[in-house]
Amino acid sequence: MMFTKILIANRGEIACRVIKTAKKMGIKTVAVYSDADRDALHVKMADEAVRIGPAPSRESYLNIEAVIAACRQTGAQAVHPGYGFLSENAAFADALAKAKITFIGPPMQAVAAMGDKIESKILAAKAGVSTVPGNNDLIRDADHAVKVASAIGYPVMIKASAGGGGKGMRIAFNEAEAREGLALAQSEARSSFGDDRIFIEKFIVEPRHIEIQVLGDQHGTIIHLGERECSIQRRNQKVIEEAPSPFLDETTRAAMGAQAVALARAVGYFSAGTVEFIVDGKKNFYFLEMNTRLQVEHPVTELVTGLDLVELMIRVAAGEKLPLAQKDVTLNGWAIESRLYAEDPYRNFLPSVGRLTRYRPPAEVQKDIVVRNDTGVFEGGEISIHYDPMIAKLCTWGKNRAAAVTAMADALDSFEVEGVGHNLPFVAAVMGMKRFQDGALSTSFIVDEFPNGFSGVEPSAEKLNQLAAMAAFIHVRRAQRAAAISGTMENHKRVIGEDWIVASNGTQVAVRVTPDDGGMAIAAAGQKALFVASDWQPGMTLGSFRIGAQEVVAKVSLVGSAIRLRRRGMDVTLTVRSPRVAELARLMPKKVPKDLSRFLLCPMPGVVRSISVKAGDTVEAGQALAVVEAMKMENVLRAEKKATVKRVAAEAGASLAVDELILEFE
Ligand code: ADP
Ligand code: ADP
Ligand code: MG
Repeated sequence: MMFTKILIANRGEIACRVIKTAKKMGIKTVAVYSDADRDALHVKMADEAVRIGPAPSRESYLNIEAVIAACRQTGAQAVHPGYGFLSENAAFADALAKAKITFIGPPMQAVAAMGDKIESKILAAKAGVSTVPGNNDLIRDADHAVKVASAIGYPVMIKASAGGGGKGMRIAFNEAEAREGLALAQSEARSSFGDDRIFIEKFIVEPRHIEIQVLGDQHGTIIHLGERECSIQRRNQKVIEEAPSPFLDETTRAAMGAQAVALARAVGYFSAGTVEFIVDGKKNFYFLEMNTRLQVEHPVTELVTGLDLVELMIRVAAGEKLPLAQKDVTLNGWAIESRLYAEDPYRNFLPSVGRLTRYRPPAEVQKDIVVRNDTGVFEGGEISIHYDPMIAKLCTWGKNRAAAVTAMADALDSFEVEGVGHNLPFVAAVMGMKRFQDGALSTSFIVDEFPNGFSGVEPSAEKLNQLAAMAAFIHVRRAQRAAAISGTMENHKRVIGEDWIVASNGTQVAVRVTPDDGGMAIAAAGQKALFVASDWQPGMTLGSFRIGAQEVVAKVSLVGSAIRLRRRGMDVTLTVRSPRVAELARLMPKKVPKDLSRFLLCPMPGVVRSISVKAGDTVEAGQALAVVEAMKMENVLRAEKKATVKRVAAEAGASLAVDELILEFE
């Protein structure tokens, strides 16, 4: 029997996404919320909402009794757990079973069997699945780790058996790193999972993360829906995903699919699940782990298969048969997902919190290309320190990979997010990189391509010309507007000059701007004029410009008298002045901006847990400097590049505000 009311035991975008499908199916929805989420989008979208506790997840979204009580109180017959929180918690599934409430997910024994990395590896090997070479022994101490690692052969991956979300994992290339890595993985695992069991496996080189979506019903049918490639990762966590993978051929896809299905069958799986593999440069693939839940990046699979995974999960939980067989699964076109996080790419992806003073996603379209934005936030809402800092999942679909990539770059250009630091310019930069466009992916992509961190995309000479033309257009249109206002008195009419100096960061070009057929002709000195047209008007924060034959969208803002333009990961501030004013400005003393890269500032309000360096220490890029705790989340602050510590300004135990100084480099 199909449910008439379900409860969603989650928050944010995934709660909203589940509610959407339930609504489509005519099922009533119940949201649960913590005190921090009283006004959240998922609460507004659901038919009913129940408060389950204070802000910290441990006391609300992870509170099994409170969730079950909410089901009882509202008469919800089933619970969709989303991902994270209680989604892979066997005790939760058990408690639901006892209360006779259906869990919209896999059977409990499968969750339990796959919840532990060592156990699941042993099970996978038994089911004939190719696993990462290594050893399933629990590591006793550093000497044991070194022994196991050298028997496997460096490099090795030191891993927490209870790990998840990229935590509790260290690569070691030699004995010293094995010793250090063990200690780090152990302490991270202890604090994140309360379980510090560690094992060691081979580190697969030139690794790509490719995973298979499986789907099963309670009548013995298990199929796979092809793969997703999730190789673009920072700190072993995914940022950009796509389906299909640009690396797989039909044979490898079929082989991986067959193994994923075999594993699912071996644990009596039903519902949606994901079997993750690591794939080397020769297309050898090895089982990593199985995620027994709906995955964050499931929308890319939906976009290429045309299926609604949440609907299928609900139908399977209600006992229905899968409406399709393996032969009915076809992959159509290409889909990409960008996870937009409130984390600052210019500061080594540190989480940022605050109010979204502006949140305008691009229009969702469904034509030759598809733009889909899964989100749980709204303008004016807050990204709090209590939860995952995800803002949205922006997906695009195109007939082929190039079309999907271009659609993503375009969608990002018109996605307005202000008020918190976020990774939108970073994702836009990746879309513009040749290596990404060529599909030459690897889990080390970000480290390879941004060894010194991210500092924005430098515009090429051609791009700078485009930006200069846009700035000149904006400046002249503003001048026209000002003239129109003061021009009410005929004899005060201002004359707008034709010659301008556009300057940015030391370079400057002289341009001539003349009216032309509804737009402007803008000529840089000695060059052919570009025809520029736009409906941009003063006050607009997004501008769409036709420049020559190109359609160019940029975020427009005014910084004092300068014009800031952002697009394609570029962030350029330009001044447009008359030649005479420019000449005067040249004579003004220059303000030298403070170089913040020499300082480690506290990225969020929090308490300093520890500082692991002292004055005089030389640190390598990526090395941990300090740990700052904000609401039970430990954030490790790392060096962005090699540097020497000059002075430590804060001490363990100190409560710091945002941007307060922790330490200073030479
Ligand atoms: P996916 O595996 O679906 O691609 P992630 O690995 O980023 O995505 O994890 C999905 C969500 O679940 C994230 O919000 C992450 O913080 C959370 N998560 C993953 N594993 C755990 C875990 N073991 N304990 C708590 N939260 C987890
Ligand atoms: P989690 O539960 O945190 O998602 P996984 O085992 O799925 O942990 O690993 C997360 C990521 O770490 C993978 O996507 C991959 O990038 C990297 N990784 C894990 N194991 C290996 C390995 N043996 N060799 C190379 N990379 C690995
Ligand atoms: Mg994983």
